[in-house]
Amino acid sequence: MSKLKIAIQKSGRLSEKSIRLIQECGIQISNGERKLKAESSNFPIEILFLRDDDIPQYVEQGVADLGILGENEVWEKDKKVTVITKLGFANCKMSLAIPKDETYTGIRYFSGKRIATSYPTILQKYFNSNKIEVEIEEIGGSVEIATGIGLADAVFDIVSTGSTLLMNGLKEVEVVTKSEAVLISNTGLSDEKQEILNRLLFRINAVQNGSGNKYILLNCPVKALDQITRLLPGMKSPTILPLADKDWCSLHSVVKEDEFWDVIDRLKENGAEGILVVPIEKMVL
Ligand code: ATP
Ligand code: MG
Repeated sequence: MSKLKIAIQKSGRLSEKSIRLIQECGIQISNGERKLKAESSNFPIEILFLRDDDIPQYVEQGVADLGILGENEVWEKDKKVTVITKLGFANCKMSLAIPKDETYTGIRYFSGKRIATSYPTILQKYFNSNKIEVEIEEIGGSVEIATGIGLADAVFDIVSTGSTLLMNGLKEVEVVTKSEAVLISNTGLSDEKQEILNRLLFRINAVQNGSGNKYILLNCPVKALDQITRLLPGMKSPTILPLADKDWCSLHSVVKEDEFWDVIDRLKENGAEGILVVPIEKMVL
């Protein structure tokens, strides 16, 4: 029986979360030391640990069937692969920054300027689409020091908090694009591999739904049940259990993580007490 080969980053910002996602899908991985490969004992999958830069090429060639990496690398390498789903971690911006004392006049500011970056393809496309000519200096890393050492007039790089830019006397002036981790696949998977991928995606969805939702339990006066049920419709409808005190009942439901605080306030207004909110590990809709 064939196995699905999935490439993840060997060591770096994506490694731990990629492994965690696989484990949360109930897939046990044997090789803790992260050699080149690890196999799962309970799912037809093999994990390859690689540099993230190499993942698009390996997936295009079919050396790996799937890959987990930042979408920024997928755009930059511009290989023929399918982006299957966003994974909700490693969120970052890709921004243009200039020395902080410069006056920024809009995107035309960059006309004729030298810009240092590790992402020349993305940057060139951006300026082509804006019909602006720039000179791109491709460098491997430490892009943020390029203006300080006189290599470039501006930089284009990944920004999460902006503190690295500030430390190097730069300010962010344009957000070119936003990126997060994605799952990619080879474009010609066999039916058998597609079948395994579908099983994996089903699990990934369950994990993602679970982490976006909370399980909520509370006690409420029976007379407030209608209002509270409207606030917490849940997956189908809430579970309602009687309490020994006939005027009260216990209600269990599911609430979206981002609506949580808003709902909590309104529950209290309606007389709810003893509210418990607990994480959901997996959720199958
Ligand atoms: P490798 O050795 O595998 O090539 P790397 O140095 O290219 O690793 P990392 O710095 O580990 O890569 O970053 C991996 C990905 O994490 C980036 O491509 C990007 O998608 C994402 N990321 C999120 N936030 C940041 C950040 N603040 N700085 C850099 N990358 C970030
Ligand atoms: Mg890399």
